[in-house]
Amino acid sequence: MNILLLGKGGQVGWELQRALAPLGHITAHDIDTADFTQPDQVATIVRAVRPQVIVNAAAHTAVDKAESEPDVARLINAATPGAIAKEAAQLNALLVHYSTDYVFDGTGHAPRDENASTAPLSVYGQTKLEGEQQIIASGCQHLILRTSWVYAARGGNFAKTMLRLASERDQLKVINDQIGSPTGADLLADVTAHAVRTLYGSPALAGLYHLVADGETSWYDYARYVIEWARKQGQAVRVQPEDIIPVPTTEYPTPAKRPLNSRLSTAKLKQAFGLQLQHWQQGVERMLIEHLGK
Ligand code: NDP
Repeated sequence: MNILLLGKGGQVGWELQRALAPLGHITAHDIDTADFTQPDQVATIVRAVRPQVIVNAAAHTAVDKAESEPDVARLINAATPGAIAKEAAQLNALLVHYSTDYVFDGTGHAPRDENASTAPLSVYGQTKLEGEQQIIASGCQHLILRTSWVYAARGGNFAKTMLRLASERDQLKVINDQIGSPTGADLLADVTAHAVRTLYGSPALAGLYHLVADGETSWYDYARYVIEWARKQGQAVRVQPEDIIPVPTTEYPTPAKRPLNSRLSTAKLKQAFGLQLQHWQQGVERMLIEHLGK
């Protein structure tokens, strides 16, 4: 299989370099060689590589910054994925692309499935939705995976930040009215590899899917889980459980509005690809064990 990987240095891109390796020959690019603010440059790369599978992990993910640079966000999240999709259609290639729970407005309390109405609250969410729409409109064979609350072992993440703050401060305030599922970049990459292989024999399974770890939590309960886990491991933790204070989103105004309900139903993906998804706590614990060298 000839695979083109774009955005190789991001959280998901890094894990994809590992997970896609057994499937075939990978040509991988990052912003230095495939700049998504230049759709024509990226389209030229696709034409030159002539891949059977394109996996796009590049995105403008700075959610607050996107509010002040919508044109750049739109180029990276929508125009260039659209240009790649047109090339994929020409080449009869499969395009794998990632999207987000931020395409929804986050009202209510139920998990949303793939048919739920979209209504983004932010430039990031709007441009990611436009990216999905351009890919679907191109007619190329595609796998769009909407996910949420992505963390990776490599680099910084929410859990590592909470551990650091818990050792430095006496009190932590954490948002408790946004509900979602922390999802590992490793899980996303592994499921991508499995799905790409499955789609090779069953192209009818192509389409839009939700992919998050099982279970749900708030940022507050996520922080409590991480800090309690670290305490049990004998880590130095200054913050006492009662000093982790739940606060509403309204107490932390940000340029981009976030959905409160980020729950995504993964029933379609599990059924179509015959998969189980681990509970989010298992993935986070594994990442923490690696982080702390336990
Ligand atoms: P990252 O921000 O870790 O990775 C995005 C990658 O895109 C980075 O390597 C970044 O490079 C690169 N990039 C940014 N601008 C450009 C550009 N102009 N040209 C080429 N590459 C560029 O994000 P994730 O790995 O977490 O995200 C993967 C996918 O998952 C994205 O589609 C994202 O929208 C989606 N997603 C992510 C969520 C999250 O919580 N992170 C939640 C839901 C969905 P550099 O680092 O040099 O800027």
